[in-house]
Amino acid sequence: MPAASSHRRLCVHTITTKPLSIEECLVEFPKRGVSGITIWRQALEGRDLSAVARQTREAGLDIVSLSRGGFFPATSAAARQTAIEDNLKAIDQAQAIGAPLIVLVCGAVPGQPLTESRKQITDGIAAVLPAAEKAGVKLAIEPLHPMYADDRSAVNTMRQAHEICDALGSPASVGIAVDVYHVWWDPELKSQIDLAGQTGRLHAFHICDWRTPTIDLLNDRGLMGEGCINIREISDWVEATGFTGYREVEIFSNRLWATDQGEFLDRIRDSYAALYE
Ligand code: ZN
Repeated sequence: MPAASSHRRLCVHTITTKPLSIEECLVEFPKRGVSGITIWRQALEGRDLSAVARQTREAGLDIVSLSRGGFFPATSAAARQTAIEDNLKAIDQAQAIGAPLIVLVCGAVPGQPLTESRKQITDGIAAVLPAAEKAGVKLAIEPLHPMYADDRSAVNTMRQAHEICDALGSPASVGIAVDVYHVWWDPELKSQIDLAGQTGRLHAFHICDWRTPTIDLLNDRGLMGEGCINIREISDWVEATGFTGYREVEIFSNRLWATDQGEFLDRIRDSYAALYE
């Protein structure tokens, strides 16, 4: 399989090709030399998890992570407990499919101070950490672009993610997912990536591009090369820390989901090759 070796470290998220079922992803990804897969929980609905684990292995794909946990903040203790239980379920699912990592979209509540939400996020992670460690599953805090600070994440910079890791006592199982879409604008990005490397917190690296104009705040991400993010430069900073993990293509796009997903995967392969080879 020469194609596979030439695209070493290429991972695609199931949400990137949302119209495809997990079974279709397992057929189509390897054809383009994709060797890693991050599985979104909705792709697992109605599936036998041990069968998914076996089928993924048989397809020759590494499961890079399960996406996603998080959404810890809420205005009532009962709702925060519900969130903790959902994260415990995600840990069980990750263990069942053999995913070594869960990506956390940490959550936020409109009108609740971001400082309070970050405290609730810290408490929520602390509550599920023993179960994650017992299951051998790591957790990655993914800072989200500040345009999502209202209702998706009160963690908007690498620095804030580091502060939560610090507050938790720097457990080895809690780190950071660096997604270029969310953090490319941050003047501290390089130094914070360096720090993540030094502290062993660089758990995942996600790529896509920022389109101008962006016409939908959530579902108008670009394929690498379609936008203005300095992806290769950021990638080089990540590599310089010693990171050897997958480069994960995570794209939410109504425009690209409406296209032929096989051709879209061809474009992902080609744009990845243009970036890295
Ligand atoms: Zn991401």
